[in-house]
Amino acid sequence: MKVAPRFGSGHRILVTGGAGFVPSHLVDRLVERGCTVVVLDNFVTGSKENVAHLLDKPTFTLVEADISDGLPHHPAMTERFDAILHMASPASPTDFEKLPVEILRVGSVATLALLERATDDGARFLMASTSEAYGDPKEHPQRETYWGNVNPIGIRSVYDEAKRFSEAATMAYHRSRGTDTAIVRIFNTYGPRMRPDDGRAIPTFISQALRGEPITVHGTGNQTRSICYVDDLVRGILLLLDSTQTGPINCGTEHEMSMRQLAETIVSLTGSTSEVSYITRASDDPEMRRPDLTLARELLGYEPSVTPEDGLGRTIEYFRGRLGY
Ligand code: NAD
Ligand code: UDP
Repeated sequence: MKVAPRFGSGHRILVTGGAGFVPSHLVDRLVERGCTVVVLDNFVTGSKENVAHLLDKPTFTLVEADISDGLPHHPAMTERFDAILHMASPASPTDFEKLPVEILRVGSVATLALLERATDDGARFLMASTSEAYGDPKEHPQRETYWGNVNPIGIRSVYDEAKRFSEAATMAYHRSRGTDTAIVRIFNTYGPRMRPDDGRAIPTFISQALRGEPITVHGTGNQTRSICYVDDLVRGILLLLDSTQTGPINCGTEHEMSMRQLAETIVSLTGSTSEVSYITRASDDPEMRRPDLTLARELLGYEPSVTPEDGLGRTIEYFRGRLGY
């Protein structure tokens, strides 16, 4: 017998940043389940297009709002929520220099406002944390028990420390106010609805390969990341949402590869003539990243299933359509 998910038909869910890449996929799944979903987004890195197909649904409301000073007054915000998913934050390293204060505010002021609201509503609060909480890790693969190696004043610190603050705030509300909370530490995720000019490695390499431009690998390209197709990540986030686990729990895959390998794979999958060009690497760029998925497997029954070739293939098709190639 199939057990109904904890959050489904009739439940009201608030998703911050819901017009972004990962969150919009999450919103799709929640709407499919019959949830009533309210999205708060200021489109700083997301786009209305990502949720355009939901706009005529009575169970979906998109509210254009910047939450960095707190929550907006809007009719959709008056009724109680059953769950609040705090997904809003610029997430590309290129944004760390362009939007530093915005990133700090959405990961602090907004987090506190949302935790207050979740506590008042008796809602489950889930926050999107990141593998960046581990900084440039000295432990490999990274387990949730690892405290990380973060430069608190470096260019990445606005993102890393905002997410670490959000984790601390989430645990503080859980411990002191009894708030039902969950933290997911997301590792490098990719897929359709990423912006071609987002600056992260996968959309950049795919756009460059399709245009026949040089593939800009930073440094030697020996640094590694473990890449996760968005559908796998979203399944993991929903498993955590439906559970009673507090976390933090890693979510991603063990498909670790060097950026040189990633560039070569994308050139081969696109059939591109692009050459790989090695350019300057930003400071504090983590050397390696791979999640230990033991907790996700044991506590949530999580198992990613999409191979890099399959996931990258699907993402390339999306970019071909979007870029007109
Ligand atoms: P994204 O930029 O596509 O999505 C973030 C969304 O938040 C965007 O729609 C943006 O407009 C919105 N937003 C940002 N600041 C806001 C504000 N002040 N008010 C209202 N809306 C705001 O990025 P993504 O990659 O989909 O990431 C989604 C979440 O997952 C982020 O919290 C990110 O830190 C986290 N995460 C993502 C990855 C990844 O690999 N994609 C890895 C680790 C963590
Ligand atoms: N990277 C690269 N070329 C690019 C963009 C990124 O070589 O055009 C590298 C970057 O230096 C990092 C890795 O790819 O080592 C992953 O970067 P991304 O921005 O995708 O994610 P994050 O650094 O947040 O893990």
